Amino acid sequence: MESFKEGILQVVSKIKSSVLLDTKELDSIIRELQRALLKADVEVKLVLEISERIKKRFLEEEHPPGFSKKDVLIKILYDELVNLLGGETTEELAIKPIPYKIMLVGIEGSGKTTTAGKIANYFKKKGYRVGLVAADTYRPGAYDQLKMLAESVGVMFYGDPQERDAVSLAKKGIETLEKAGAQIIIIDTAGRHKDENSLMEEVKVLYRELKPNSVFLVVDATQGSAVARQARAFREAVPYGYVVVSKMDGSAKGGGALSAVAASNARVLFIGVGEKIDDLEPFVPRKFVARLLG
Ligand code: GDP
Repeated sequence: MESFKEGILQVVSKIKSSVLLDTKELDSIIRELQRALLKADVEVKLVLEISERIKKRFLEEEHPPGFSKKDVLIKILYDELVNLLGGETTEELAIKPIPYKIMLVGIEGSGKTTTAGKIANYFKKKGYRVGLVAADTYRPGAYDQLKMLAESVGVMFYGDPQERDAVSLAKKGIETLEKAGAQIIIIDTAGRHKDENSLMEEVKVLYRELKPNSVFLVVDATQGSAVARQARAFREAVPYGYVVVSKMDGSAKGGGALSAVAASNARVLFIGVGEKIDDLEPFVPRKFVARLLG
């Protein structure tokens, strides 16, 4: 993420050091912004759109009295970056009804199992009784990994390494954890399968049979704008409401991943910022951009 931030800060310092802020200087600032966004793997189409909007707004909108041209341009840059990354959203996930079932989907390596543990930890800290269900019956090790995460966080866990049928396993898991008093049940599903079609088929069946209250898609920030393809593929299988973008720490392509998710009209709810259990942050575009601009 550092390099996205550095790129954007360079744009800001270019604005601050401009002399007249005439069209020539504006064009050069816009080019600097385009470079920074492309380096962060933001899709070309989005880069061109944001460039045009910033230019148009700066040249056509009336500037409020008392503000310098530089202040106005920085404010427009700020607004448009917020829009690029998802707009003005602050609404938190409403945990209703109880038990609230969250199904996690995503391809193998996206950080899904780690994210399941992090989300469990997040809600436990908010005071909920949480349970994790290991319904990834494909990846060897997924069961042990989630079990260990559940133990370290101190939440309930259900899994059965002998069971091959993800649907009946998850159903049993939900029933067991509900009886044990879980208020939030997080179901970790497979990310690898025989092939992509059978993975999507399993996700569809799980969604239909488990009727989760929410589906979270987990994507990996290091994939940059390529996450758009995953977002589309999963969209056809399951109506996920939220996305978690993992591995935002140290990924120069985080800006590309976030903007690709926003462009697909899905909402990024959390970002993963490290391998540790506490490395999960609610994602609020406005706050994120405020931090970027320093
Ligand atoms: P899954 O196959 O999707 O279940 O992926 P895992 O949860 O096993 O994660 C794959 C790798 O990514 C592991 O080495 C995790 O420690 C790592 N990982 C997950 N989330 C993050 C994150 O936010 N930051 C970093 N740096 N690593 C992460």
